Amino acid sequence: KGTQAAWIKETYGIPQLSTGEMLREAVAKGTEVGRQARSIMDAGKLVSDEIINRIVAERIDEPDCVNGFILDGYPRTLPQAEALDRMLDEKGLRLDGVVALEVDSDILVRRIASRVEEMRARGEPLRPDDNPEVLKQRLAAYQAQTAPLVDYYRSKGALRAVDGMASISDVAAAIGRALADTAFRPVQDRKPAAGAHKPAGRAQKAATGRK
Ligand code: AMP
Repeated sequence: KGTQAAWIKETYGIPQLSTGEMLREAVAKGTEVGRQARSIMDAGKLVSDEIINRIVAERIDEPDCVNGFILDGYPRTLPQAEALDRMLDEKGLRLDGVVALEVDSDILVRRIASRVEEMRARGEPLRPDDNPEVLKQRLAAYQAQTAPLVDYYRSKGALRAVDGMASISDVAAAIGRALADTAFRPVQDRKPAAGAHKPAGRAQKAATGRK
């Protein structure tokens, strides 16, 4: 999820808003949010909708989000999805698409194991929630609280289901195809307006059709 969100960030020139990353930063800094989130994250459960919705609402008001953004790991519950609808409405923004990566849970367990090995090899501190017991809880939380969002977004016509079992580059290519009918265009495909040397930000805004 994070790997492909980073690809979307680079390819479409928009920031990656990872709620998990924001929470890990809050934990590292020892903020009030971090203090509240830490034990919940370590147990593989979901942090309260209220905390998460507030973090996201504040983050999407930052200037770097003006031309669009990718939400990585949000929404994860129905109340979050409804809060996101209201947030976007209030800000005059619209949802371009929802990418659902479909992956077999055995494969996920193996991917987490290789992430642990890679982080260890790089000498990076391991995520406390990257272990088999907590992963089981994270998958249970997904089934109980996040899986219903697939139908929610399918019924809105926003869902883009992508087979996440392929290689990283094949999954990225499939996401690119799945987003081809949205207003988002890869940075490299954007043509500058004829005869004009507009700043990148403005050209991008036109391409994404926001606001
Ligand atoms: P991630 O980095 O997306 O795997 O998220 C790591 C952990 O952060 C999750 O297991 C949750 O405990 C918490 N978290 C991240 N995003 C959310 C969210 N949208 N709602 C609730 N908890 C979240």
